[in-house]
Amino acid sequence: MEATTFVLFGATGDLAKRKIYPALYNLYVDQKLPQSFSVIGLGRRELSDETFQANVEQSLRMFSRREAKDPVVLKNFVRAFRYSVLDVGRKEDYLKLLKLIEQQEAELRMEPNRLFYLSVGPEFFETIAANIQESGLGSANGWKRLVIEKPFGHDLQSARDLNRNLSKAFTEEEIFRIDHYLGKPMVQKLEVLQQSHPVLQALWGNHSMANVQITANEIVGVEERAGYYDHVGALRDMFQNHMLQLLMMLTIQLPNNSTSENVRFNKKQVMDSLEALNKEDVRSHVVRGQYGAGTIQGKSVVGYTSEPNIAANSQNDTFIAAKLQIANDAWRDVPFYIRTGKRMKDKSTRIVIEFKEPFVQAQSNDEDLTPNLIVFEINPNEGISLQFNTRDPQQQREFRPIHIDFHERGDNVPEAYENLIGDALHGDSTFFAHWDEVELSWQWVQPILDAYEENLVPLHRYEAGTYGPAESDELLAKDGFHWWFDDKPEQTIESIKGERYAYYTNR
Ligand code: NAD
Repeated sequence: MEATTFVLFGATGDLAKRKIYPALYNLYVDQKLPQSFSVIGLGRRELSDETFQANVEQSLRMFSRREAKDPVVLKNFVRAFRYSVLDVGRKEDYLKLLKLIEQQEAELRMEPNRLFYLSVGPEFFETIAANIQESGLGSANGWKRLVIEKPFGHDLQSARDLNRNLSKAFTEEEIFRIDHYLGKPMVQKLEVLQQSHPVLQALWGNHSMANVQITANEIVGVEERAGYYDHVGALRDMFQNHMLQLLMMLTIQLPNNSTSENVRFNKKQVMDSLEALNKEDVRSHVVRGQYGAGTIQGKSVVGYTSEPNIAANSQNDTFIAAKLQIANDAWRDVPFYIRTGKRMKDKSTRIVIEFKEPFVQAQSNDEDLTPNLIVFEINPNEGISLQFNTRDPQQQREFRPIHIDFHERGDNVPEAYENLIGDALHGDSTFFAHWDEVELSWQWVQPILDAYEENLVPLHRYEAGTYGPAESDELLAKDGFHWWFDDKPEQTIESIKGERYAYYTNR
């Protein structure tokens, strides 16, 4: 790998401590960092290099997936870390930084390749990019890259403004937008599985799939992020980015040995084919919710509007469920149901694919048939399980589901940030959010934002510790489906079964 100076804005922040230092450390242990590598941490506080290095060590002890206890390894690792004071708006700090970097590059005989990681609030992105440009930090003879974290804008217009301003200092190829869901190992496997697994390849698409469900449920409420979250809600915080990225990764169809360019192009195609909603459609396709008081894992929790720093009359959304359709040859007529919420009954991120049932028409009396499923578990555990129905040889007429499970556990699985930082160091943008798809995602979401703003969509309260408002179940029941793996009374599932069969036979 090419020599790199890793310039970290926000080096004293929470993300740096919890994710970035542990990721760098694990890459180091796995010998996945460049031979010549130095880190320059930046923050407003005065810190000596020694104190900074001690803080980094401390964060590794607390947050690294591998125990960081070998003093020799630790010492060698933190030796590469320097610290410099920088206030985002102070131009002289950038010149001082430039001097420090040039001095390091000369001492270590490193090529001037510089990766700028902005682990700071999004309000600083444009100022920092402009100052990097103006100070000459980005004009050395090597490469430069900019890594930023979501949120990329607040709506379609602000996202376009942000992109236009960043583009003055960095080209699209130089910008790496982190959506950490794309770093999750199971999400990265989706692409390979489709390309290389003949069974999945044969089943992929509308000829065999009845519907697809993408869920990201959290148990937690707003926590300390109240001020931020109350202006953002589930739609902006989760749906526009993580959930739509999961949809894209699942539905892109790639040639073998595809490049990062193929991935970018195919994701754009999916977003281009997503049937647009207009403001008036939103009500029939989107369920907007906010949690009320309830009980989670035996503990009582307050409702959203009673959380500290949330206004008693807040109309912010903490839950969204939506039905989407992709109008292309591969996916036409397959409904995609996507939901995400806070204070839900359990924590899980998963994709469930429900297959059509070829036997249903032939044996329509067979009410006990369970559909074939593929389940991709993404969080908290990783795994794929297939549920195939098969005829029981002992009892001629009975079908029995076969489960095939594959689960990965333990500290061998790299964290999302490890994968993503490793890729950014390599200059591989496959698993980053490219501008095309960010813009198209905002474009798709904008009518929902407008409908919320104009109160065209009711805000349904749901009890904390449930699976969201009843309207979310109705969204699927209308089509004859139900959310898989919500522990509903069997009765509910039974009652919609008949409709589901009707849906298949109408296709
Ligand atoms: P934080 O508040 O803990 O840290 C922010 C950092 O920015 C600090 O180091 C602070 O010193 C620095 N900073 C603030 N004002 C500055 C200024 N004027 N000049 C120079 N430095 C300044 O925030 P965080 O949780 O580390 O988040 C950083 C970014 O990452 C945010 O954009 C956030 O939205 C995003 N993010 C965070 C997480 C997470 O898990 N914490 C997850 C996803 C995205």
